[in-house]
Amino acid sequence: MHFRPYVNRPPLPASSNVAPYSSACPGLLHIVAARDGGLCRIRLPGGTIGAAQLHALASAAERHAGGPVELTNRANLQLRGIRAGHETALSQALLEAGFGPRGHHETSRADAQAADARRNLMLSPAAGRDPDALIDTRALAASLLDTLQNEPRFAALSPKFSVQLDGGERLAMLEHPHDIWFAAQPDGTGVGFAFGLAGCPSPGIYKAGGNMLNPALEASADIPALGIVGPEQVPALLNALLRAFLDLATPQQPRMRDLLRTHAASSILQRAQTYLDFQPRTVRAWTRRIADPALRFGPQPQATAGLWWVGGQPPLGRLDTRTLHALAELAHAANTQATVIVTPWQSILIPDLAKTAVAPTVAAMERLGFICDPQAAYAGLIACAGSSGCAKARADTKADAQYLAEHLPQLRPAALELHLSGCERSCAAAHCAAHTLLAVAPGHYDLYERDGGPGFGRLVAHDLNLEQIKTVLTTTARSPIDV
Ligand code: SF4
Repeated sequence: MHFRPYVNRPPLPASSNVAPYSSACPGLLHIVAARDGGLCRIRLPGGTIGAAQLHALASAAERHAGGPVELTNRANLQLRGIRAGHETALSQALLEAGFGPRGHHETSRADAQAADARRNLMLSPAAGRDPDALIDTRALAASLLDTLQNEPRFAALSPKFSVQLDGGERLAMLEHPHDIWFAAQPDGTGVGFAFGLAGCPSPGIYKAGGNMLNPALEASADIPALGIVGPEQVPALLNALLRAFLDLATPQQPRMRDLLRTHAASSILQRAQTYLDFQPRTVRAWTRRIADPALRFGPQPQATAGLWWVGGQPPLGRLDTRTLHALAELAHAANTQATVIVTPWQSILIPDLAKTAVAPTVAAMERLGFICDPQAAYAGLIACAGSSGCAKARADTKADAQYLAEHLPQLRPAALELHLSGCERSCAAAHCAAHTLLAVAPGHYDLYERDGGPGFGRLVAHDLNLEQIKTVLTTTARSPIDV
């Protein structure tokens, strides 16, 4: 598939601010301080990482850091516990391993840092491999990443500004709000991309009560979209929407949702139109087939007959360097691409396995501690860094989550989907989990249940200690929460 490069017809407004956005967000070249040492975020294109890169990352972590590697809810990696004075050497080692933005060798460190910070593009971890996808989004995603990182003016975007490209896959995260989203849908005899601002291409995959839907039974509700374009028009449209955003947003409006408080979506689109030589077509509300996050576990058939992926989740999304090296060996032996894909559920897929390699790969991953069964104790459990790594945390969420998983293994947290958050920022989950434990003090939490409303949902119980939480969760396993 070929995509036309964007043509910048109108001159930049004189008021345009192209100074790089200043942020506390960590990046490859922007290591920030945390309670447990330096924190480095490694953005992965489409969540993809090669076996050689996994080895390089593990070796760099051994030399320069003392903390774990975390998988993030944007399908990226984070390295914790970076030793003081090792920041530059670590960044250099990661750049040499190919983790940086494309072309970083030819730019200044400041430009490379700014380009790295805006590589926030979410794909399905099964892009190009999911049997239910309407289109393979990988080539288009590469073009969109070029758009995001190569245009100097986009250095003014917040490092949190993010874009989703949905190919209609069955394994897809559809609950993370993005500043701009594109979603494939049937369009005449081909496929087009509906698009929207500050939201998701789906209202969600769960019922308001928190129970996981049977994905075979229900499709998500109709979704409004601003328009539809052909796949070859998506890069130019993204470029135009980003320019329109920067034209209209004030410094107090870093995200699209902020701009929408003062400007109608139609006026943002009207501004974007001045940068386009085509007009998006109107689209009626459409239906996105429901996704199934359970496909991130265990062996699943790919679109190409005879090939499979195997999914596994490390407990609480953390890996040590020994496991990283072993995972690299496993990917190297198991698939010809020697590739691992990080998912937005803080798990990984090893793709492109022959049928004969599936069972040995599952067994090897389980020996390494990966959860390949969606009914396992840790499968639906997520927790932020907590007080061991973050000064804002009111409790040690990782340790408390581990305690709950070990003492309540029969509760099948996969069905429960439980999120422990050290404060309101909700770093471990960009979506609202079915149930959230929000720390109020060490070992004490408020319990929320998703109800379709804002925030964490409905407050169910206040200031529970871990023993009380065990009792409430035991009740939950038998019937909906009502305490
Ligand atoms: S959610 Fe709060 S406590 Fe947890 S890592 Fe984020 S900022 Fe820290």
